[in-house]
Amino acid sequence: MVIVLEKGIRDDDKQRIRTFLEKNSLRVNEIAGDEETIFGAVGKVGIDPREVEILPGVQRVIPISKPYKMASREFKRENSVVNVRGVKIGGSRVSVIAGPCAVESREQMLESAARVAESGAVMLRGGAYKPRTSPYAFQGMGEEGVKILREAGDAWGLPVVTEIVSSEHIPAMRDYVDVYQIGARNMQNFELLKKVGALAKPVILKRGLSATIEEWLMAAEYLLASGTEDVILCERGIRTYEKATRNTLDLSAIPVLRSLTHLPIIVDPSHAVGVRDKVPPMALAAIAAGADGLIVEVHPCPDCALSDGAQSLYPEQFEKMMRDIEVLAPVVGKAVSRRTLATAAKPAQTASAVKKSKLDGQAICAYAGGRGAYAEEAIIRYFDGDAQTLPTSNFREVINAVLDGKAGFGMLPIENSLAGSVYENYDNLARYEDIEVVAEVTLRIQHSLLALPGASLEGITSVYSHPQGLAQCDDFLSRFPQWKHIETESTSLAAEIVAASGDPTRAAIASETSGRVNRLESLKSGIETNPRNYTRFVIIARSGEIVCETPNCASVIFTVNNEPGALHTALGLFMKHGLNLIKLESRPVQGEPWRYRFYADVTLPQGVGESVVSGERLKMALAEMGKIDQDKGIVQGVRVLGLYNSKEIL
Ligand code: PEP
Ligand code: MN
Repeated sequence: MVIVLEKGIRDDDKQRIRTFLEKNSLRVNEIAGDEETIFGAVGKVGIDPREVEILPGVQRVIPISKPYKMASREFKRENSVVNVRGVKIGGSRVSVIAGPCAVESREQMLESAARVAESGAVMLRGGAYKPRTSPYAFQGMGEEGVKILREAGDAWGLPVVTEIVSSEHIPAMRDYVDVYQIGARNMQNFELLKKVGALAKPVILKRGLSATIEEWLMAAEYLLASGTEDVILCERGIRTYEKATRNTLDLSAIPVLRSLTHLPIIVDPSHAVGVRDKVPPMALAAIAAGADGLIVEVHPCPDCALSDGAQSLYPEQFEKMMRDIEVLAPVVGKAVSRRTLATAAKPAQTASAVKKSKLDGQAICAYAGGRGAYAEEAIIRYFDGDAQTLPTSNFREVINAVLDGKAGFGMLPIENSLAGSVYENYDNLARYEDIEVVAEVTLRIQHSLLALPGASLEGITSVYSHPQGLAQCDDFLSRFPQWKHIETESTSLAAEIVAASGDPTRAAIASETSGRVNRLESLKSGIETNPRNYTRFVIIARSGEIVCETPNCASVIFTVNNEPGALHTALGLFMKHGLNLIKLESRPVQGEPWRYRFYADVTLPQGVGESVVSGERLKMALAEMGKIDQDKGIVQGVRVLGLYNSKEIL
């Protein structure tokens, strides 16, 4: 059963409830969610929920109707995220595990790790104990293989996953393995499940060759009931009458599981199809269907592989597949997980700032708006859940929080693909000289029309949102010309106002998350005029604190006099030094009619040595601009807003 605790419950009441449940032979798990804290209690003997309901501090008791308890969605409403030494699986990311079917040699494994890591895998696979159909086939390198796998993973900062076929192997494996894989053939080996679950390490549980979804979840329950909290389900194809592929990949299992369980779901397209060229299309289909990640076989020389060569991708194929996934993931609202140490714009930048804005070991990033704001979502995605979000009421407060040291970073929206530039922030970047742009991210924005439970579209008379929210939904809003539009400081504030008003004739345009947080219902979702609706955010920090080692973009501001050729002269310098100008924005200089400040974004190519070369080019272009400035020429006030990484669509 699930016991929802009262908000602000006293510690002694909480302890009393726990003791009561444990005395009744129930195992108790505390789950602190965003909106409520619950106790999940499971055990062999049932107790009357009414006995629990009357305990002080209990808000309500929900019995779990499914035979699998801890694995069920009823037990935990939020999706679980499994954290493997910093690599996360689940939530709003796509995590890719790759490597050969089997560890064959040290060279093969080191080469495999290098190739998959370079293409973006976050974890390394390789079987050391192989469950082969034929007793005469290669059975794996055993203990030596496990050690080699670990060495290769460590060389590239990749946690490792390998299959366990017998609990006898635990002593040989436990010091080296990050994630145990239970293979399809062992899904219902309950003794093995109990022993592996008791190790309390993450486990990938593959679906049995002919297992139903319920049997699969019951197997997951064995693991959870034995001690591990981290189970990842892996769909790898089931046995059907079809012979064209090795198995039939059951992609419909993904949405089915999503409603039944909170556990992360990954897909193994390699064992599903058994033929190399069918792997990438099914990998993409799995991501489109909502998978949290993939486990894919990649071999440096598939033609020499000792097992499953025919389904192993060439490293080049894997690289192309990863690029395709990068494009697809944002369409389904996800971002591809990256090895943290390899992404210069993330840890290299956060590393120094973390020290200065530390709270419970986390970086702090300020944003304008309340819970559920799009900027908050951008922070969660960009820092992959490792930063604390600090809400403020407007953009200036974000900047002040950064300048005062309350936050190491600030997230500011700068441009929307439907509604255009956020001028206020362009002006802010110029006004505050002690801040710098340290990264840039793009987030897909999906708006919902939120109202009180029971409200209807017909009954709405006014709609609240940030001007950008209103502008991005103008097609939808034009269908209701009678609605009054009321502008708010942020979309999340619009949701708060509507919730607090208790008035069913009011609606807000904001995110689904804002709706959840404010207990509003969505009258219609996806109301943005075009689904390709993206907002570009800049991440700011105090000047000089963060150095991006491999920038691919730079932003520069300068003013020009109101005279012929002024802008032409400035831009001509970018051209002269071979820099690609990708965006130019102009804003009036306050108090000086008809003088303009220009914001120029230029790209710094990323080929070998290129970013260094183009960094030099930028310096030369700016030096020349600066010289004109000093000579009191027509270009003035040249300032570099930042050299940073701009690449991610979150
Ligand atoms: C494997 O991952 O190498 C493997 C044997 O997978 P499955 O158990 O899905 O057949
Ligand atoms: Mn295999």
